[in-house]
Formats: sequence, C-alpha cells, structure tokens
Amino acid sequence: MWTFATTHPITPYLTSFCAGPFSGTAFTSEHDRLSPVPVSTNSLPTAAAALEAAALPELFRQPLEYYQRSLGLAYPYGKCDFVFVPGYPGLAFGAPGLVTITEQVLTEPPQRNPSLYLATVIAHELAHAWFGGLIELQPSEDGWLEEAITTYISRTALEATRPGATPWAEPVSLALPDHGYASDAAPIRQLETLIGRQAVLNGLGNLLRDHAHGHVSKDDLVQCWSQAAGRDLRQYAAGTLKPAAKADGQKTP
Ligand SMILES: [Zn+2]
Repeated sequence: MWTFATTHPITPYLTSFCAGPFSGTAFTSEHDRLSPVPVSTNSLPTAAAALEAAALPELFRQPLEYYQRSLGLAYPYGKCDFVFVPGYPGLAFGAPGLVTITEQVLTEPPQRNPSLYLATVIAHELAHAWFGGLIELQPSEDGWLEEAITTYISRTALEATRPGATPWAEPVSLALPDHGYASDAAPIRQLETLIGRQAVLNGLGNLLRDHAHGHVSKDDLVQCWSQAAGRDLRQYAAGTLKPAAKADGQKTP
C-alpha cells in the first residue's frame, strides 16, 4: 500500500500516476540557490538501451535550470519522474511530478533533428510544471495562453542552452512537436521585442508567485508584464495578445 503526502491543490485532471515494470536512471538537477530536484528517466527493459542512448541527463537539467533561473522560482514539486510508455495514446503529458512520453520517440525517432525533437518534448512538458501545474490559465477564454507561454519559454530555453539551436526558424519549427502552438506564441515574441526578454520572463515569474496554485486570466498576465516593463501594456495587449487563427485542427501536446 502506498500512502501519499498531502499536496497543494492540483487540478483533478492532472492527478496522475504510472505503474509498471519500468526502470531507468536517477540524477539531480542543481541550482546554486535552490534545493536539488530529483529527476528520473524510466522505460520498459525492451527500450532501456534506447533510453540510455537518447535521454541524456542534460536534456532534463538544461531546461529545468533555465526555468528556475529565469523565472526566479524553484521547480514546484518534490521530484520529477519521466516515463517512456509503449503504446501511449498521445505524444506526451506533463502532470505535477510526472511526465509521460510515448516510447516511440526513443525507439523510432523522427528523421529530421531527432535530438532537438526529443529535447523539445522534454523542455515543453517540464515547463507545464509551472504553466498548467503551478498556475492554470482560465480554460474558457485564456486557455490558449497556457500552450503559448509553454511553447515560448521552452523554445527560449532550447535556444539559450543548446548552441546553434534555432527552434523558431521556419523549416526547423515545422518539424518540431510543438509547431502547432508556435503561431500562438508569436505575440509573446513580439512583446519581447518591445519590452525585452528579461521583462517578459520577470512578468511570468511575478504571475507565478502572485497566483501560485490558482487560476489566472489574461488580465492578470498583462498586469504582471506591465509591472515588469514599467509601462501600461493593456492597450497593446488588447490589440496583439490573441490566439492565432488555425488553418487546420493541428493538435500538439
Ligand atoms: Zn503543452
């Protein structure tokens, strides 16, 4: 029998667990001012060699350390387990403390940019620990912002930590699993040219701190960005911070 500790409030659909004959490796992600985060990577024995070859610890450490540093917030959960699951119905899902990813990304990696593809899946799902886990955007109207922010910050982390990585460049972006959200992330990149990357990240950090374990709206977000930038961005955001019109119903994690 397993007894679980009491947690902060978690959205019901994010309450998840994973059981099976999984094994793998464990390591920690360090940050000079924060507690180390225990990370584990797991697969079935049949995928163990592929896991060891492809899922290198830096793919997890780099985005994790980038988010903690740039947002000024610790990883919100006590550990982070990654499980590569055979026959998983989707590509990946990031729940608090547990990220499940289809085993196929290890055993049948895409031909174009396999390393950046896997790094993108990992960075994206890790970012959901903060955006989707620690705070949730109001699903009715502002839910699109959750994937937009997650895609923005995970691609920013990839650019910053992987020399030569250009996830936004058109041919590269097209082959990445989060491409369906890239157009929704475009208004945040546009905001970055106006107020600077640091102000965008500081605003996101303030949003997480002010509303931890709760729901937030686009107005809360714009208020935090306005504070971080030292200017009122409400009018600007009303004109530009909108979901992109989708040509097809493409859906990514
Ligand atoms: Zn996502």
